[in-house]
Amino acid sequence: MLHFMHGVMGSSKTAQLLMQRYNLQQLGLKVAVVKPAVDTRAGADIVYSRVGLKAKAEIVLQPHHSIKEQLMWLAVQRAHNDFQFVLVDEAQFLSPDQVQELADMAEDLEIYCYGLRTDFQSSFFPGSAALLRLAEDIQEVPGGLCWCGKKATMNTRIDEDGRVIKQGEQVLIDNQKKIKYIGLCYKHWRQGRSHA
Ligand SMILES: [Zn+2]
Repeated sequence: MLHFMHGVMGSSKTAQLLMQRYNLQQLGLKVAVVKPAVDTRAGADIVYSRVGLKAKAEIVLQPHHSIKEQLMWLAVQRAHNDFQFVLVDEAQFLSPDQVQELADMAEDLEIYCYGLRTDFQSSFFPGSAALLRLAEDIQEVPGGLCWCGKKATMNTRIDEDGRVIKQGEQVLIDNQKKIKYIGLCYKHWRQGRSHA
């Protein structure tokens, strides 16, 4: 089954992915962690959570990669072909073709895609739109809060001085361009207020 676990910035999606991986491995189940190459904040193959958990991704996916081919390659490396679970971090960066491929593979696999639903302008990422269309199970990872204490629903890009940015490219990775991402409630995103 294909699952889309979406959550706002700061909702600990990656921590949940890493805990799920740990629990599955404790049961002796075979897990592959997949990470799109566009996210290079913590090193090309490191899946990193702000709460301090991290792990090495089995597969770093380029936009043109077939996930199925990458998994077959991994199975050869590991001398087994019985992965039961695939966990995808930053799944908003998947291409629609890759999501379609996952949907087709999910007849035989449990595939959990963790990612953002929308970008800093509240538009869908192409990968997230494809996941919303094709995932059989869609769940929200809770816990993201605005500074006011209300539920955060809006992924917000801010500059060094905390100013809310509403124009620009869809994908700008933080720590490269002196920007950061935070979660805000709708009202404070609309007002452009990133702090009290
Ligand atoms: Zn707020």
